[in-house]
Amino acid sequence: QMGLSEADPQIADLLEAELGRQRGGLEMIASENFVPKAVLQAQGSVLTNKYAEGYPGHRYYGGCEFVDQVEDLARQRAADLFGAQYVNVQPHSGAQANAAVYQALAQPGDTILGLALDHGGHLTHGTKMNFSGRFYHAETYTVNPDTFLIDPELVRQRALETHPSVIIGGWSAYPRIEDFRALKEVADEVGAKLWVDMAHFAGMVAAGLHPSPVPYADVVSSTAHKTLGGPRSGFILAKHEYAKALNSAVFPGQQGGPLMHIIAAKAVAFKLAGTPEFKDRMQRTLEGAKILAERLNAPDIAQEGISVLTGGTDVHLVMVDLRHSKMTGKDAEDLLARIGITVNRNTVPFDPRPASVSSGLRIGTSALATRGFGPAEFERVADLIARTLRDGSDADLEAMKAQVDTLAESFPLYEGLDQVS
Ligand code: PLP
Repeated sequence: QMGLSEADPQIADLLEAELGRQRGGLEMIASENFVPKAVLQAQGSVLTNKYAEGYPGHRYYGGCEFVDQVEDLARQRAADLFGAQYVNVQPHSGAQANAAVYQALAQPGDTILGLALDHGGHLTHGTKMNFSGRFYHAETYTVNPDTFLIDPELVRQRALETHPSVIIGGWSAYPRIEDFRALKEVADEVGAKLWVDMAHFAGMVAAGLHPSPVPYADVVSSTAHKTLGGPRSGFILAKHEYAKALNSAVFPGQQGGPLMHIIAAKAVAFKLAGTPEFKDRMQRTLEGAKILAERLNAPDIAQEGISVLTGGTDVHLVMVDLRHSKMTGKDAEDLLARIGITVNRNTVPFDPRPASVSSGLRIGTSALATRGFGPAEFERVADLIARTLRDGSDADLEAMKAQVDTLAESFPLYEGLDQVS
């Protein structure tokens, strides 16, 4: 049997180049992570060959005796990890999990109420160009303009005005913890369902380092690949009463055959997320974000009109506010790329600049914590970021890049991994 390097040298070379890129730089995109080798192996397994439409014990294909056990393990592990009554591990992605949640909880044309995209919400929470804004009547709430926090009272006011069937909690770019109990009270008051999309903070919830939305929300959706560190994919948790509607919304509502190799990888990730090592990683993730926020709050940074949104962070990311800086989000992203640190620009609430440029940076610590970084390394990275943003084009980028290289080399990634032969 031909290995990849023989069968397709072009793709093999590109995989090796990407591995080199991941090894050589510092990955600080808040939605990214490095999966363990065990997850890569499950993803790259023969389970990709198997059709398994339906659910364990009720498939539309023969030969499912082993994949049934895989899916059952994945479901049981997620149920145990998050204390959920119902689990669906079949969504191919976060967006598809969310599409199924809408299908189960609302009718096309119903009003939905989610956090505005430019205030930290996600495309699938009702943005006009996404299916969620096209098939549903999407209304938004914003953060409180004084505190920049998600404020249940503001959500309540918008809910009383708009009468949503579904209120959406969760976010893509927000540095604090939401009050799920208060959001549930608002939903109950207006007769809406509460759905929380915990894609970003699922890892901390699993580790017990972030409040869980599971006891409060009717439905919780998530990706497996952000802080949770699993394969690129989605899953759904819910109360028993939504089991039937969610099962049929995922299949046949949104999807055909489940990706059994990815479900196996999710099972592995759920298992690993229950270990003390995972908790330690999540702790370092949170410490790293706090260290970064503190450094970016220092007077030498404030002098340049740069600050940290909400003054700090409770999660794995820091939102840098550049509204009062001459540097745009795009400038800052490009500058950090030149020293080997990958981040993404992001709008901040009430952003005066267009989204293509934006006035914010979203910087996350999950991938570096997975790589082994602890407080000492995060101090160094935070200082490199701070000095680069502070000095802009006057920064000694070469010297900074050399320090990034040294840090990356001290924490080898996927040592000895052979992905092509
Ligand atoms: N939900 C939230 C809150 C997200 O941040 C994301 C990803 O950015 C998604 C859903 C979508 O996940 P995917 O990219 O797997 O479709």
